[in-house]
Amino acid sequence: MLAVSVAPAGAAQDDSDRGLYEVRGTDSAQRTEIARSGVDVWGTHDGVMTFAANPAQAQALRERGIALEQIADVEELLAERSPDVVASADEFPAGDEGYHTYGELTEVLRNTADEHGEIVSLSDVGSSYEGRSLHLVKISDNAGQDEDEPEVLFTCNQHAREHLTTEMCLRIVERFTDEYGSDPTVTELVDTREIYVIPTVNPDGAEYDIENGRYKGWRKNRQGNGTDLNRNWGYQWGCCGGSSGSPYSETYRGPSAFSAPETRAVASFVESRVVGGTQQIKAHLDFHSYSELVLWPYGYTYDDANDTMTPEEARRFQEVGERLAASNGYTPQQSSDLYITDGSINDWMWAEHDILSLTFEMYPAGGGGLDGFYPPDERIEPETQRNDEAVEILVAEAGNQV
Ligand SMILES: [Zn+2]
Repeated sequence: MLAVSVAPAGAAQDDSDRGLYEVRGTDSAQRTEIARSGVDVWGTHDGVMTFAANPAQAQALRERGIALEQIADVEELLAERSPDVVASADEFPAGDEGYHTYGELTEVLRNTADEHGEIVSLSDVGSSYEGRSLHLVKISDNAGQDEDEPEVLFTCNQHAREHLTTEMCLRIVERFTDEYGSDPTVTELVDTREIYVIPTVNPDGAEYDIENGRYKGWRKNRQGNGTDLNRNWGYQWGCCGGSSGSPYSETYRGPSAFSAPETRAVASFVESRVVGGTQQIKAHLDFHSYSELVLWPYGYTYDDANDTMTPEEARRFQEVGERLAASNGYTPQQSSDLYITDGSINDWMWAEHDILSLTFEMYPAGGGGLDGFYPPDERIEPETQRNDEAVEILVAEAGNQV
């Protein structure tokens, strides 16, 4: 007798038999074509694009002449990486306890604010879809006052499974507080800048990704089938085939720009920093993983410069991007050199607020497998420390008037 299972109406497509694939020797046009096909892009480095796809998606790409090679089965990888499913745990899988859950992160931030009250103020920019506070840490001398100092913003964890980025923001907070008064560079920057850090823009997704101690490879927020927060920003939203209109896609842009409470909250905070008609935030860095890249806008167009970015401004992005990359060994490039994206945070920050806004894709460079999103917790320290100098460069750059 046949066993027939019927998916409930509106259920997500069956992704239980997804494979992990690589395509070698790609250029940006090919990568854009692959990304547009609806597969789940994991990373790209040296022309090798790694993505998860279900059998129908893989077949469709093959029919278009794209030479893809299956390197693993996604469910098997996830099971290997987090073998012990725990009924009630809100914890990282055994062996990865060095990562912070949302609750642990919250506690560390509160303790830091308690210990360093003079230079730290802890608040939030609003709440996630499920009601978690979107923590905002301000670090500056006289943190309780709005002084006339250049401001800089760091955001992490727009994408749920990119847990290493939350640790990156946490390192920025800990370093600029613990080293204040002892490290001369840190001290000077804290004295002359207002540094804002949002350690997790997507706490609901991050918590879901580790629910029951089992990694799920989750990327989006938890509103409906999930919105890709980094396709939901309100500049050239959905313009250019750099996001998806399908709620089941990993790059679903949402029903409208800023439909996600998380992007709306961060954008409102940035808008609130326009004081006397002048945006106070001068520089911004958004952390992702993985591929070891430094990316700058625009993502929605292959053009280097246009009516919202002069050739001089484009050259400044390139110059700063290359300087950052020289400090950490990442590869610098314009975002669209990777593939076209629309509705990204960098495009909005620059186009709407003239903020020098870049993205880091963190460790590893590539190599396939699950270590891309789930590097062992031993990698947290070296791979966040690796960006110490880049963070200092960006904080300093906020004060460089152009
Ligand atoms: Zn990401």
